[in-house]
Amino acid sequence: MLRRAVAVELEITKELNRLLYTVESMYLSIVREIAEYAVKYNVTSATQLHRLFYRKYRSEYPSLNSQLVIQAIRQASEIAKSFVERRRMGLAYKPYPEVRSVSLRFVETAWNYDQFISSVAPVRVVISPISTGKKGRSDRFEVWLRPHKRFWLFWWRVLTGEAELASTLIIKRRANKWYAIFVFEIKPKEEEPKSIIAFDINENTVAVGRIDLPSTVDKVAYWNRQYLTPQLYMIRTDFGRLARRYKMIQNKIIEKLKPGFALPSGKYINITNTREFRKQVRKLRERDRKVGRVRQVASELTKTPAIIVTENLGEKPQDEMINGVSKGELRHRIKQTPFKALERVVEDKALERGSKIFRVSSYRNSRVCPIHFTRLWETNDWHVLYCPKGHYVNRDYASVMNMAWKITPEAWTKGAWWDLRKKMDWREYEGKSNTTIPYSIVQYLHAILRTFKASLEQSPAVLARGKPMNPAREADEGWVRSPPTPPQGGEGSVAGQIPFHLFIILRKSF
Ligand SMILES: [Zn+2]
Repeated sequence: MLRRAVAVELEITKELNRLLYTVESMYLSIVREIAEYAVKYNVTSATQLHRLFYRKYRSEYPSLNSQLVIQAIRQASEIAKSFVERRRMGLAYKPYPEVRSVSLRFVETAWNYDQFISSVAPVRVVISPISTGKKGRSDRFEVWLRPHKRFWLFWWRVLTGEAELASTLIIKRRANKWYAIFVFEIKPKEEEPKSIIAFDINENTVAVGRIDLPSTVDKVAYWNRQYLTPQLYMIRTDFGRLARRYKMIQNKIIEKLKPGFALPSGKYINITNTREFRKQVRKLRERDRKVGRVRQVASELTKTPAIIVTENLGEKPQDEMINGVSKGELRHRIKQTPFKALERVVEDKALERGSKIFRVSSYRNSRVCPIHFTRLWETNDWHVLYCPKGHYVNRDYASVMNMAWKITPEAWTKGAWWDLRKKMDWREYEGKSNTTIPYSIVQYLHAILRTFKASLEQSPAVLARGKPMNPAREADEGWVRSPPTPPQGGEGSVAGQIPFHLFIILRKSF
């Protein structure tokens, strides 16, 4: 089940504003005190903490809705648990968890859930943050919402049965505004895949290979020519460049702060541990920007339901990559490339939109010619490799094409890669491939790749893109294109989706 949280601002009266502030501070002190106790005495179970504290806080704050006391205890237990876990991993330095803010959780009975979900277009909530002892009107507060487009989009899905509204409502304050946070549970879609997409994450780009599937994939014999073209393109992410820029700015901040942190001995204390440094770095919002780009890429890859093929990344892909890379800038950039995050977001979005993710081994994906299955040679341009059969191949395109090959029978039955049989046990892939991807699709993909391969044998320049020996080295990343726009001229317009020179070559072979 997928969850999506949507925050909607509340229109709060002065009276309710004051009340919510009071409720929040009671709630906060309960969470704080219990979390501290829980860590100190290592009692983190919610049930145990409830037994220990419920009565105490009920009598201490008799006006607080008892449901909120229960929720506060639960929240304290969660905070304590994660703190203990972080401390175990050596990530927490303070003796107790520092609880700075809380979100008030209203369970089903503490707000008008039933009424809310039976409404076609809900515009207000009724919450009960305090209890007056009697079931009167005085403890119920009606609050108007300021719903926005995103909320209505999810609400529409609730109405159509694609999503459900979780029964717990979260009320949270940010600065001086109050928000209601609705949690929607979305049912993963089951959809016929419309394409096969292989993607590969690099420092500054994501390479994409895409093959559209005809609506009736079973009729492989009658396929339309337009589907024959695997589209190869790059989405620009610039994670590496971003990291380099931020590293530079961070160094500047360090230099600027240094004089203020000089020790009598003439040395400096570690500036990166200071509050002032962290404050200034936070302002750069590096993470936000990165997350934004990750989401854009994920959204591009999952636009239509597809079978998404990607490399099986290890637990810490960065660590494997920087093995052998000496300390310094490149190392930092690789560390900062959010491989795992990108993979996670793609997977999450894929589920939501009815796509399936299929992971293939990363073994020699960018080392083998996807046309001749020979080992590629290095050139003096990192991005371009040379096939001994006499042509150049772009490393990233080789990689995505090889990933696509790996889900076809050719890969696991023949062991078509050079000396592959010695190195890999393909049997482990056979079963998987058949269950995840319908056989007719595998067959179709196989047929497409073989046709593509045959056409490439005549003009392999398609995969090369530009000449090696680029004097500017890194500048050749400037080749990358923005994601293709949806075809404007009906289904047949492939032109908008593939690089121009690739288009010319393909036209010739038709
Ligand atoms: Zn070749």
